[in-house]
Amino acid sequence: MERIEKSEQEWRLALTPQQYAILREAGTEPPFTGAYTYNKERGAYRCAGCGAELFSSQAKFDSGSGWPSFSEPEIAEALELREDRSHNMVRTEVRCRRCGGHLGHVFDDGPAPTGKRFCINSAALSFCAAQDQGAD
Ligand code: FE
Repeated sequence: MERIEKSEQEWRLALTPQQYAILREAGTEPPFTGAYTYNKERGAYRCAGCGAELFSSQAKFDSGSGWPSFSEPEIAEALELREDRSHNMVRTEVRCRRCGGHLGHVFDDGPAPTGKRFCINSAALSFCAAQDQGAD
C-alpha cells in the first residue's frame, strides 16, 4: 500500500480544524456530536484524511457510546493498531495505515462473532452512500 506523506502545514490546509485535531493530533470529538453516530444508511466509510476505505455500514452497530461503532474493518490491512498509554489508560489506538491519521480506539466489548468495538470519530470518516438500492 502506498503511504501518503504530507507536512503538518499541508494537512492543516487539507483538513478542517476539527479533522486536523482528531486525525493529526489524536483528538476526540465529544460523544453524541458526530455526523455519523446514528447514521444507518448503507455505504462505505472512508478515511477523511486520505479516502482509504475503512469500514462498511454492514459492520456498524449502535454501541450507545456516542461514537460510530463497528464490529470489524472492511479491509483489515487498511488499519494500523498501536498501544496507547495516554490519559492513564492502556488502550489500542486505531490509525489509518495509508495516511497515519488517528481514527479512534478498538475495545474488546463488541458484539459476537468478532467481540470487537471499533470506536471511531465521525470527523475522521467520510461516508459514501451505496449507489444501488438492491440487496446487500
Ligand atoms: Fe487515511
